[in-house]
Amino acid sequence: MKTQEIEKKVRQQDAQVLAQGYSPAIRAMEIGAIVSFIALEAALVYRLWGSPYAGTWLLLSAVLLGYLAADFVSGFVHWLGDTWGSTEMPVLGKALIRPFREHHVDEKAITRHDFVETNGNNCLISLPVAILALCMPMSSPGWVFCASFLGAMIFWVMATNQFHKWSHMDAPPALVGFLQRVHLILPPDHHRIHHTQPYNKYYCITVGWLNKPLTMVHFFPAAERLITWVTGQLPRQDDIGDEAARALVAADNVSEAPVVQAAKELLKATTPEKPASSRPSA
Ligand SMILES: [Zn+2]
Ligand SMILES: [Zn+2]
Repeated sequence: MKTQEIEKKVRQQDAQVLAQGYSPAIRAMEIGAIVSFIALEAALVYRLWGSPYAGTWLLLSAVLLGYLAADFVSGFVHWLGDTWGSTEMPVLGKALIRPFREHHVDEKAITRHDFVETNGNNCLISLPVAILALCMPMSSPGWVFCASFLGAMIFWVMATNQFHKWSHMDAPPALVGFLQRVHLILPPDHHRIHHTQPYNKYYCITVGWLNKPLTMVHFFPAAERLITWVTGQLPRQDDIGDEAARALVAADNVSEAPVVQAAKELLKATTPEKPASSRPSA
C-alpha cells in the first residue's frame, strides 16, 4: 500500500483533550522527580570526585559513551511510547503515554512547555538508574567507569527532551542553533523525518546519530514483529488509529516481499532452463 493511502487513514486524537490530561498530580510528581534526580546526580558527582580512579580519560569516555547510550535509550523509549499502549491505561496512560500522542498532533506544544513539563518525565524514568549508579562500590576503575557511564547516560537522557524541544523551536538560542548545524545535538531537519506520517522511523532524539544505523538494520520493525507475535498487539493502534495501523503492518509485510522476489528471480536466472524442444518425450 502506498504511503499516501496510509496517510489518509491516519486518525489522531484531539490535541485539546490531550493537553488537558496534564493534571496537577502529574505536575507534582514531575517536580518531585526533578528534585530527586538532581540530588542523586549531585551525590554521584561528589562520590566520583573523591575517587582515586576517576581520571580524565575514564570520565571523558564515560561521558561520550553515555551520550551514544542516551541516544539509543531516547529512541527506544520514544518508540515504546509512540507504538504501544494507550492514553486510557491506568497511571502510565496519563503520565507517560499522553505526551507522546500530544507531540504527534501538536508538535509545537513542546515549545510552550516549561522546564518541569519538558524534563519531568525523563527524570522520572532515570531515577532507578541514578540509585543504581550511586550504590556502586567504586572500589576499582571498572566500577568507577560503570557508575560514571550510568550517571552520564541519565544526564544526557534528562537533556534529551530539552534538545528535542529546541529542535522544534523556530528561533532557538544562537549557540543551540550552532550545535544543531554541526549535528552535536538533534538538528531540526533530521528530526523532521520522524514527524512525517505514519511516524514510524527516526525515533532517536538526543542527537540522532543512531537513527541511520538502526534504520539500516530494521531494528524497530523487527522489534514490532516480535512484540506483535508475543502479545498480539497492533503497533501504533492508539496513535494513528486502527485502520492506518493495520494498513501499515500490511504494507510492511509487502515491502519485505520484493527482497524475497529479487532473490527468487536471481535463483531462476542462474538455474539454466532447459529448452522445451530438448525435453525427452515420455
Ligand atoms: Zn514520535
Ligand atoms: Zn518531535
